[in-house]
Amino acid sequence: MASSDDEGETFHDHFDTVCAICDNGGELAICEGKCFRSFHITPDSMSAHESSCESLCLPPKEFLKKLKCENCEYSLHQCFVCAELGSSDKSSNTEVFQCSSATCGHFYHPKCVAKLLQKNDKTERQSLQEKIAAGEPFVCPAHKCVVCNQTENEKVADLQFAVCRRCPNSYHRKCLPRDIIFEHQAGHHDEIRAWDGLLRKARAWIYCLEHEIDPEVATPTRPIIYFGISLSEVQSNHTGRNLV
Ligand SMILES: [Zn+2]
Ligand SMILES: [Zn+2]
Ligand SMILES: [Zn+2]
Ligand SMILES: [Zn+2]
Ligand SMILES: [Zn+2]
Ligand SMILES: [Zn+2]
Repeated sequence: MASSDDEGETFHDHFDTVCAICDNGGELAICEGKCFRSFHITPDSMSAHESSCESLCLPPKEFLKKLKCENCEYSLHQCFVCAELGSSDKSSNTEVFQCSSATCGHFYHPKCVAKLLQKNDKTERQSLQEKIAAGEPFVCPAHKCVVCNQTENEKVADLQFAVCRRCPNSYHRKCLPRDIIFEHQAGHHDEIRAWDGLLRKARAWIYCLEHEIDPEVATPTRPIIYFGISLSEVQSNHTGRNLV
């Protein structure tokens, strides 16, 4: 893949600008593993509190800026399509495989990602699935527009991407469905699904139409799983939210 993506970026540029659990920004620690995610460490920080973030519930350590999340620690990652946890351990019985784009932290079951990469041709899909399962590198669907199948061009405003936070659906700004409404366009009764200024590289952040917005938290539910323990189990005083 041509990766104008990587030009002039530093290591830190690949990391998520918001917390993987609550989608809010603020004081975050980054994972040193392969997932490129960032996390609120404790529920007490202002930004974590604002979004009722369960956080990692670690004791607040002022200088803890880096950590290794449990998913990376135990090589168990969620498939970005079906959200199920699978082994990403490359040495044996690998279940989920990481996208080979250098800046992408998404993992997939071969079957789940092959279905999206080869929508029409069943034979091609099957053979792609087998290749991925055998460890062949693949680039996940998030790097092409789901409507026109073309890549991003950051220099042209219309061709910048709007990327879904919950699945590998990306759109050019010009290809974005009208039902995906930006914060600044929204009337009183509109459901806001798109934001500017949250992501690097002038990208828009969206929750695509495949996800229902939970009115209580104004985001889709947050199915983040750590090592088989869902955060709702980890956090005893957590209420109301529907974690898988
Ligand atoms: Zn958070
Ligand atoms: Zn990680
Ligand atoms: Zn899957
Ligand atoms: Zn990817
Ligand atoms: Zn497009
Ligand atoms: Zn989506």
